[in-house]
Amino acid sequence: MSLSIAIIGTGPSALYAADGILKKAPEARIDLIDRLPTPYGLVRFGVAPDHLGTKNVTRQFDKTFEKENVRLFGNLTVGHDITIEELKSRYDAVLLATGAQQDKTLGIEGEDLEGIYGSAAFVGWYNGHPDRFAKNPIAEHTRQAVVIGNGNVSIDISRLLIKEESELAESDICAHARKAILEAGIQNVYLAGRRGPLEASFTPPELRELGKLEKAVPVIENADIPDALPDSIDTSIPSGRVTAKNMEIMRSFADLEADKAERKIHLLFHASPVAFLGDRHVTAVRFEKTAIDDEGRAVGTGEFFEIPADLVVTAIGYRSRPIEGIPFDEKRGNFPNNDGHIEDNLYVVGWGKRGPSGTIPTNRADSFQVANKLLDDLAGQDSEKGGPDAFDSLIRDKGLSPTSFSDWKTIERAEEQNATAPAPREKFTSIQDMLALLN
Ligand SMILES: Cc1cc2nc3c(=O)[nH]c(=O)nc-3n(C[C@H](O)[C@H](O)[C@H](O)COP(=O)(O)OP(=O)(O)OC[C@H]3O[C@@H](n4cnc5c(N)ncnc54)[C@H](O)[C@@H]3O)c2cc1C
Repeated sequence: MSLSIAIIGTGPSALYAADGILKKAPEARIDLIDRLPTPYGLVRFGVAPDHLGTKNVTRQFDKTFEKENVRLFGNLTVGHDITIEELKSRYDAVLLATGAQQDKTLGIEGEDLEGIYGSAAFVGWYNGHPDRFAKNPIAEHTRQAVVIGNGNVSIDISRLLIKEESELAESDICAHARKAILEAGIQNVYLAGRRGPLEASFTPPELRELGKLEKAVPVIENADIPDALPDSIDTSIPSGRVTAKNMEIMRSFADLEADKAERKIHLLFHASPVAFLGDRHVTAVRFEKTAIDDEGRAVGTGEFFEIPADLVVTAIGYRSRPIEGIPFDEKRGNFPNNDGHIEDNLYVVGWGKRGPSGTIPTNRADSFQVANKLLDDLAGQDSEKGGPDAFDSLIRDKGLSPTSFSDWKTIERAEEQNATAPAPREKFTSIQDMLALLN
């Protein structure tokens, strides 16, 4: 009997792992399990709604789902509906690909004031994640927002908060978020980072986009963009070249006519948040100015300043959600592993393995490596476990009704039909509504 493998999660790391396994073991029987009826993980719920091209990777993922020996079980939560032991005892190997979806916190004064959100919650809101669709996080009076963090997620959020209606028309942003953002008409977004422009982890295409908005203009606030790169930046390596490009783009922002702009994105460097101010709702963020020490760390200078804000989004990283029965590193917020191996026949890939770093393509090489390791470990072994048949019996015995890939395609078609052109889809935000469609 061919190998049986359960993969928990259906984000990029899961699909690349399935692909990697099938390249070397085309007969392997693979079941992918997701807690949501919709596959693709952060490609659906993280990637910015105005970056539709990035989402085309799902077409490639669909080719894997369409294989005869691959099945999707949606609306099943491992650790709740089924245990990790139940999977380990039925499959030759189990691969954890559950990502990192919980916001890290800053641990500073005032963090529980209203109007402050972690980026997972906020991005999940505009992207229609069923867990996150609660009340509108943008209060009506919101004029000024602070986004904390100097990476691409911060850029995505800042850009979306300040876009015009015409600039959102072709996106798949959820209707509730589009309405709230356009009604608020935010004038100023401060994009704040602890370190300087040389250390920011933006990538050039995302940074460049800020200079191409219809009405909003990027303004570099409290940092000089050096005319020449310091010697410490080595442009013979990719990261050095990214920094050089970023500097060039930031220099070009000076040519934009910021004084005349109705709306601005202020790039605020060397700013470490130390407290959120306000009685019930946030009204301002207090920052300490920083300087970069010899080891490239941002250190406080003892000089403080405040930026008024009605809305704050922190984009400072994510933690994985622990799952009962799997060892968890509380400090790092992920699943401890040895090159992807956790213990026994249990493996991990993606953000659950490495922590929240890397883009969609980064997961490809990483998942392929773990897939190869898993196959090496199982080499020469005959499949000893019940595999998919035993899993089907378990599902039946437990009275569970997971959704299939063809169910997802039904949901997808309905989302496309519900869209107002030129938007490609209007996402369902409630699992109940999705299941009602399938009955
Ligand atoms: C806001 C944001 C924007 C991004 N934009 C881009 C971009 O534009 N371009 C780019 O290349 N990269 C982007 N990335 C990075 C990219 O999304 C990640 O590299 C990638 O999604 C990580 O894949 P993963 O499979 O590890 O996790 P995820 O994509 O998070 O997938 C995890 C899956 O596991 C499921 N799951 C979780 N727990 C359970 C459980 N207990 N039982 C069953 N299923 C479970 C989840 O529902 C989910 O489907 C972005 C990331 C974020 C946060």
